Amino acid sequence: MHQPKSIPMHLHPSWEKVCLPKDKGDLGIKNLALFNLALLCKWKWRCLNERNTIWYEFLNFRYGPFPSTIFTSNIGSVRRKDSLCSMGGRTDEEAGWFTCNINSVLGDGSSINFWREKWIGSEPLCSTFPNLFRVERHKVATVANKGRWDIGIWRWIWDWSEALSLDAAAELVVLKGFLVGITPHMNVEDKHRWIANPLGIYSVKSCYSILISIYNQHLLQPDVERALHELWLNDIPSKVSVFCWRLLQNKLATRDNLSAKGIITNFVSRSCTFCFNVIESCDHLFFSCPLAKRVWDGIHSWMGTNFISLETGWGHFLAFGSFLKSSRHNKVRHLIWCTTT
Ligand SMILES: [Zn+2]
Repeated sequence: MHQPKSIPMHLHPSWEKVCLPKDKGDLGIKNLALFNLALLCKWKWRCLNERNTIWYEFLNFRYGPFPSTIFTSNIGSVRRKDSLCSMGGRTDEEAGWFTCNINSVLGDGSSINFWREKWIGSEPLCSTFPNLFRVERHKVATVANKGRWDIGIWRWIWDWSEALSLDAAAELVVLKGFLVGITPHMNVEDKHRWIANPLGIYSVKSCYSILISIYNQHLLQPDVERALHELWLNDIPSKVSVFCWRLLQNKLATRDNLSAKGIITNFVSRSCTFCFNVIESCDHLFFSCPLAKRVWDGIHSWMGTNFISLETGWGHFLAFGSFLKSSRHNKVRHLIWCTTT
């Protein structure tokens, strides 16, 4: 069994899968669109944290007031599509990944959006108290705007667009409980922490990892992902590992795949090259075909291990790897398996 010399492009795994990182079992080719987004988001981060700079003043003039607008879609007269605020998604929900990864640390409260930022609790108050947020008149108010000092005591100010429903009233009781003992600290700057980095500082690498994981969720079954991850641990030529990577995902030019793409139209021609009894798929050709089983039986006799009769590629691969358990052998664990296929 050997790799065909030319591979039709439509039998390659999807581009999204190819761009998954190697620790997720795939090729780890950089997704340039997402990487560019991670680079651009550095400007959003800097707008939040470097407000005493000339370029900040320029961006503020060009795009509208920062930083509270980063957390909202309200950007005044500036067209939304022109704004840094819209980077990362066409809607607030799509772009919400950025703000979800930031914790705000309360200083004077002048640059923290009261409702939309995570400054108290584990999520923004607009998510925790949706009924209150719905009737809030000042959805973009900062923490500092939401209260005032009164003879040395900080008092929160509430302004609703309509009478509170029972649900909203119940939420207000809980919110007031949340805010007991919380006051802005005069002459202390607000700060922001990037959650994905233990140091709290934004990094393009961590942002890119977040984007990749969001955009590629659920592309692979967990077992297939684990098999692909283990495949990359082996110290084998890339030509071999890429072949096995395609095999484990049923992406070789077997007759079932050629038929699915309309290259083979004759039903009879889809039969296995060796036994003619079953439709030829990767799993059949390499693992469950009687000829393949005889090959694996011979390999196991030679290795002195029990023959395993698993008929899915990833199942066979993972079980085969379990014969060599020592971590020292990680780099050769599947060498025989890859050589056999
Ligand atoms: Zn067969």
